[in-house]
Amino acid sequence: MGVQYTQFNEVNMNDIDAVVVGSGFAGGVVARELAERAGKRVLIIEKRPHIGGNMYDEKDEAGILVHKYGPHIFHSNDKRAFDYARRFSGFLGYQHRVLADWYGTYMPVPFNKNSMEIAFGEEKAAHYIEKLIDTFGDECKVTINELREQDDPELAEIADFVYKNVFLYYTQKQWGLTPEEVDPSVTARVPVFISRDNRYFQDAYQGMPVFGYTKLFEEMLDHENIQVCLNTEAESVFELEFESEAEDAPLSAIKLHGKKFEGPIVYTGPLDELFLARFGRLPYRSLDFVYETFDKEHVLPCGTVNFTVTEDYTRITEFKYLTGQKSDKTTIMKEYSRAYEDPNTQTPYYAILSDENRVHYERYRALTAKLPNFYPLGRLAEYRYYNMDKIISLALELSDKLVEE
Ligand code: FAD
Ligand code: UDP
Repeated sequence: MGVQYTQFNEVNMNDIDAVVVGSGFAGGVVARELAERAGKRVLIIEKRPHIGGNMYDEKDEAGILVHKYGPHIFHSNDKRAFDYARRFSGFLGYQHRVLADWYGTYMPVPFNKNSMEIAFGEEKAAHYIEKLIDTFGDECKVTINELREQDDPELAEIADFVYKNVFLYYTQKQWGLTPEEVDPSVTARVPVFISRDNRYFQDAYQGMPVFGYTKLFEEMLDHENIQVCLNTEAESVFELEFESEAEDAPLSAIKLHGKKFEGPIVYTGPLDELFLARFGRLPYRSLDFVYETFDKEHVLPCGTVNFTVTEDYTRITEFKYLTGQKSDKTTIMKEYSRAYEDPNTQTPYYAILSDENRVHYERYRALTAKLPNFYPLGRLAEYRYYNMDKIISLALELSDKLVEE
């Protein structure tokens, strides 16, 4: 059958039981679950010209499958989330490897025993490794913050090296902040690993959809009860009603085509956008992606190279490593991190986690709290730093709840 696309003007809301804003994993999974398990007729409203959220991929002019919104590698310890993704696509057993370009020398990231030998030479590294094992244990992960808290002068030396050569400049480029200024959970994503394991992730389930994410989403949303309106912003079709005129007055109803919608509304976009940024825009980081194609089989030694001490981009990804595609050409992508300033030309990619921003977010969240059929879900709507697997898991939890109702 294929995905059923429609125009919002042509939708009769009497034929719709649930509305989902956004077609990434958050929206896609809920739509599929409600359609399949509860027989709900679901309308997806998506502002982009395609489904798949940030996972969207497509072939470029050279025929290379590229990710349009940043490199996406599936990795998880959550079997339910992985099994769910696998329902809609076979997966290739890809294991991601990242090297830091350290003034022209490559060293594995996360920083590990092998990186230590490159950085300090074998003899000194052997001594440091022993020290790390004595302090933290072998095959253990230690965050850079934890390492920097150690009093021992040799551990302090290691910490200082990793801080200056792996985290400082990359974090400044990515966030416009130092590692001390970002939420500790951010740098904790890439801890020092006392191991010879050069993989970026150690999760039990890792891989890439055989024919790409877009195909996976086409499979997931291919259901007779699901209709998709592309190029449609929620704020342009939602008529919001509030309890009063006050700026902080909560939402009391959402109308679509002039009629109060009583079914579940699952919203996966940024909450401030829905309210036209009435309390000011929520802070996000955005990215610019620059692609380049070469008449060569490969240009990088592995899937991603992080530029931790030089360059103004953060990392380069060569997609063929991730997707397993064979070609005598190759396409790479550089990521430039930017402040998110203009919603018309930029996309919000990363919530900037801080207490102050959480308070700001909660102000928007409070506007929706009294509307019992409104469910903010996902990386944008919850203002969180979630990976795909977590989103699938949360979407399944919400679906379980909605299916039971
Ligand atoms: P999204 O995928 O962002 O989907 C939200 C959808 O809602 C979008 O399609 C958007 O167009 C639509 N939308 C938003 N606002 C509106 C509106 N007002 N009206 C209508 N539609 C709207 N995770 C991993 O597990 N592995 C990785 O390797 C990985 N790499 C990443 C790399 C980058 C650069 C980034 C930014 C993220 C990465 N992630 C990765 C995280 C992953 O992208 C998210 O976990 C996932 O996209 C979250 O899914 P979502 O459905 O919540 O949001
Ligand atoms: N980071 C770093 N140097 C690296 C890799 C990561 O400083 O070589 C820090 C940086 O602050 C980054 C964070 O760790 O934003 C999380 O990295 P991850 O690779 O998980 O980021 P994502 O893939 O989500 O952009």
